[in-house]
Amino acid sequence: MSLNVDDRLRESDWLRAPGIQAVFSAVEQEGDEARTVGGAIRNTLLGYPVPDVDIATTARPEIVMKRAQDAGLKPIGTGIDHGTITIISGGFPYEVTTLREDVETYGRQARVVFGRDWEKDARRRDFTMNALYADRHGHLHDPLGGLEDCLARRVRFIGDPDARIREDYLRILRFFRIFAAYGKGELDREGLGACLRHRDGLRQLSAERIGHEMRRLLSAPLAAYALKMMNDCGLWEIATGGLARIEDYEALRLLDEVARETRDPELGLVVLAGFVREDLERICDRLRLSNAERKRMQTAWAVMKKLRNSEAFPEAAALTYEFGKQATVDGLLAIWSGRIARNSADRGAFSNMLSAVRHQAVPEFPIKGADLIASGHKPGPALGKLLKHLESEWITSGFTLTRQQLLEHSRPES
Ligand code: ATP
Ligand code: MG
Repeated sequence: MSLNVDDRLRESDWLRAPGIQAVFSAVEQEGDEARTVGGAIRNTLLGYPVPDVDIATTARPEIVMKRAQDAGLKPIGTGIDHGTITIISGGFPYEVTTLREDVETYGRQARVVFGRDWEKDARRRDFTMNALYADRHGHLHDPLGGLEDCLARRVRFIGDPDARIREDYLRILRFFRIFAAYGKGELDREGLGACLRHRDGLRQLSAERIGHEMRRLLSAPLAAYALKMMNDCGLWEIATGGLARIEDYEALRLLDEVARETRDPELGLVVLAGFVREDLERICDRLRLSNAERKRMQTAWAVMKKLRNSEAFPEAAALTYEFGKQATVDGLLAIWSGRIARNSADRGAFSNMLSAVRHQAVPEFPIKGADLIASGHKPGPALGKLLKHLESEWITSGFTLTRQQLLEHSRPES
């Protein structure tokens, strides 16, 4: 098995890239070693893409900085106090962090020193599957025996889960998020128990950090299960201050194959908040969502509210004209996923409707105020009213009234 694993790493494009090899060459001098660690290894072993690469090294940060400069690479020292230098190489950023170890713990804060011991560095990491290392040739180093857990997709804390969570409460959210993305079967019971016991610790985390993890969790394949477990542990309420409509969210995620939007955090959050607008706004605040994210949620919510009592599939053109395509797709998914989960016979028809919305040319109202002025109307509030009136006539006609017909309807003497 281990040969197989080495092969998989050795053959991965990201490790063979000249950019990362140049980082290794720069850092590994005078007896210092460097190894990639964490997500890049885990994702490669499990067959996922590798979006970013972390590198651990025995070299101290100021030395890493100097060696990168000498090699003509671009080091950025913003994280130097924590031991991290970002090196841009081949157009890609690599985070190079000096090995660390805990020397003592004052209450919650660990004092950290730089070290040269790979096993101690591994013990400070969160989960066994995240404590795998590979050298520049793709040879795996597994100081804590995390390989088996990784291949079995078991998310297990390193060491005593209670103690590890007390050191950093973000690990509670990472436990659910990493499971939702890479896990299989059920959450590790010991880890889950510790998350439950320390749930109040979430209150100490900043909204940004919670928001960051929750967004990533919602994009993951097993988000519905992970959220249900979080909710059962009281974690959702602490994170967002509200109730989660877990069953509606489960229904939404049953449509993962039908629409890519089911994995968008904004849509997930709209569904989880349900029809209560205050819940939606509070979630946006508590997770520090951006204005664009909030706007998407509000528009989806408006569509959802409009469709709330409709029995039949609605007229796609009118919705896209009023709300735009994205909000229409979001709103349809939010409203219909529950019904389709209960009656999968509608699934095909629903999927056809979504595709009709996606291909719909959004109708464009064919006249402007200037057209009315040209045909004899005086500028002013009455003109605005007339324009609105014509627009609604046009919408009612199913967007069939032409510019000519509309202008005829609006002749000043008529
Ligand atoms: P991804 O990049 O997909 O989020 P990742 O595992 O690479 O996954 P990062 O946040 O990039 O996650 O962290 C890199 C590594 O640092 C992790 O694999 C883990 O070993 C360690 N790590 C990150 N956050 C923590 C934490 N809160 N506590 C302990 N170790 C952590
Ligand atoms: Mg990473």
